[in-house]
Amino acid sequence: SLHALTQDTQRRRHGHGRRGRNGGIVTRAKRALRRVARKVGLVERRGHGAHGHHGRRPEPQRPRVWTDTYYSLLTYPVSASVSTFANSSASEPTWRAKLKEDAFPTEDPTSPAGAGIWHGFSANGTARGQLVYASRGTQADFAALRERGIDVRGKVVLMQYGGVFRGLKVKAASEAGALAVLIYDDPAADGPGGNRTEHAAYPAGQARNPSAVQRGSVQYLSSYPGDPLTPGEPSYNPALPGTPERLPRDSEGVNIPDIPSLPLSYGDAIPLLKSLNGRGFQWESDREGMPAGWREGDLGAEGVEYWAGPSEEVVEVVNHIEEKTTPIWNTYAVIPGQVADEVVVLGNHHDAWTFGAVDPNSGTASVHETVRSLGTLLKLGWKPLRTILLAGWDAEEYGLIGSTEFGEDFSTWLQEHVVAYLNVDVAVGGSEYDLNASPSLADLLAEVSQLVPHPDKEGETLKVTEVSPLGSGSDFTVFLQRLGLACANFGLDRGANDPVYHYHSNYDSFAWQSRFGDPSFKRHQAIARVLGLATVRLASDPVVPLNTTAYAVALSSYLDKVRALPDADSLDLSHLDALAGKIERASAAILARGAHLASRLADRTSPPSRHKAHALVRKLRGVNRALRRFEGGFLGDEHGLQGREWYRHLGVAPGRWLGYGATTLPGLSEALALDQDVEQAKVEVKRLEKAFRGILSGLEHAQTL
Ligand code: GLU
Ligand code: CA
Ligand code: ZN
Ligand code: ZN
Repeated sequence: SLHALTQDTQRRRHGHGRRGRNGGIVTRAKRALRRVARKVGLVERRGHGAHGHHGRRPEPQRPRVWTDTYYSLLTYPVSASVSTFANSSASEPTWRAKLKEDAFPTEDPTSPAGAGIWHGFSANGTARGQLVYASRGTQADFAALRERGIDVRGKVVLMQYGGVFRGLKVKAASEAGALAVLIYDDPAADGPGGNRTEHAAYPAGQARNPSAVQRGSVQYLSSYPGDPLTPGEPSYNPALPGTPERLPRDSEGVNIPDIPSLPLSYGDAIPLLKSLNGRGFQWESDREGMPAGWREGDLGAEGVEYWAGPSEEVVEVVNHIEEKTTPIWNTYAVIPGQVADEVVVLGNHHDAWTFGAVDPNSGTASVHETVRSLGTLLKLGWKPLRTILLAGWDAEEYGLIGSTEFGEDFSTWLQEHVVAYLNVDVAVGGSEYDLNASPSLADLLAEVSQLVPHPDKEGETLKVTEVSPLGSGSDFTVFLQRLGLACANFGLDRGANDPVYHYHSNYDSFAWQSRFGDPSFKRHQAIARVLGLATVRLASDPVVPLNTTAYAVALSSYLDKVRALPDADSLDLSHLDALAGKIERASAAILARGAHLASRLADRTSPPSRHKAHALVRKLRGVNRALRRFEGGFLGDEHGLQGREWYRHLGVAPGRWLGYGATTLPGLSEALALDQDVEQAKVEVKRLEKAFRGILSGLEHAQTL
């Protein structure tokens, strides 16, 4: 059937029907490709962003590679210290944090050349105050501090990583009146694979190195991602005339902290935690959300008892950083397809905090392997049915900046043409196959995974047990949450029994990866295979492999989750239930229509006439348009989510106080669960009904074409 479809296109190219009705497929495709070329920077446009393409003409029939520039606010470390003083006016410190990762020239040869220690977008400043330990800094943790009468105003708040995105820990602390924040990785959260009684610390063994530090952005990512000063707009060169105004750094609602923060190693955290013993209250070890048996590997052996404080001594945090608006570079390559205006996008970021052997370079290696394979196919004469756009994003680590600016720049074009966006970031940090995706992509990923030999289990293939919804934390965010495109993100992540992966540390190195992560590099190969197969299917299946029926089924389960929330029984969800059912049936019908049209086109025993084939292709394109626009139906209206308008998807969002984690039906769920606002929840039900009706009519319309 693929053959029939491309044949039809080829016939048109060789002279027939070029000026047929509706301009003909080839003419339309060429026009679309010129539009692609213009929009994505193959040729000069509007005088912004793109550079170095002056006067060049696109060559749409051949693969092309180019770079594009945006300008983002970023921060760089100048100097930092964390010390304790007997009281707020003392001038001699009683202790100083090392704030340095140990160098191991032999075992980990890149470690001596590692980067400094800082949090991207942390505020500049010096703060002195008593120390309070807020556990993981979740909303529940800050509520527990309030209930126990521990005031964090004027304090330095120490937290451990985990549970919520680090920027939201800083946001919660800032809103509670804290002066500064320190965040460390507790070995308790590393599980059995990082148990310090069983395993030596890296590089001798697989447990966490006590000096290791997790850098990372503290952007308030659930407000909006991208350049902090241009939400919703592309961040062009500020020196060029006509560039939209940037927000002032300190204006209301800018998504970066107003207090300084620093990451700490657990070695540096131990004396601070111990200074709290016996003060305030002791945090429970069996709280909801804590890893099971977290007492096992925790710092109890070092004398840490995990008390809340406040401390007797004061802690001083000095964070001197440089803030500047600076160019960032995305790189792209395009492989034109027969149907140039249906586009499959693959992406992976290329910036790293230090060496990034796992994050993002395991992903980069896998993507490059996929690219090499696509190149081999091209040399063999293959041409994808649809266009493939490959992207290497910059400044992901600071807040998904390169991808977000691109998405904001080309929003309309992307919404009109993209079939799906596949993201790879950490391809290999361990042994656990993890997939998050739009429900419509779950079947495709399960199917292609089954074709890939398991990298660790002889005679088995990769198995998909669960595909969970996407929250945020990597470059799919703008495509899914802002533009309403089907997205997936996958990789082999660290499991609790695997060696500790030193995320965002100097020890995220080739030495670690080749010794503990993936010595045979077969895991990298497995992810490249999944990516390659998914790409080829998305680019070449006559009916785009988006199972929207599965999406409709997922909607019913999202509604069940809402029913479990407080006050849900005061809402009437019956219309939404009924609409989800109708969407499911309409979707099954449209998929059946697509399959029928494709099989008619492929029929070799009684092939359709040229005229008939043209009509079949037109109908099939209508089906494919409906399938690829399905997810966009969730964008509802221009207003986005309450209080965070950048996020427009009413079906899924990064949880307002989670960041990485997804909240389904976020407007409705958070109105009930976070705001206890039943009136708002009723408004959200109406908005969802409108969106669901739009999705339904999109499917029904495609039946009539
Ligand atoms: N992957 C980055 C992190 O988790 C994303 C940062 C962000 O989204 O702001 O740190
Ligand atoms: Ca922007
Ligand atoms: Zn990454
Ligand atoms: Zn990262």
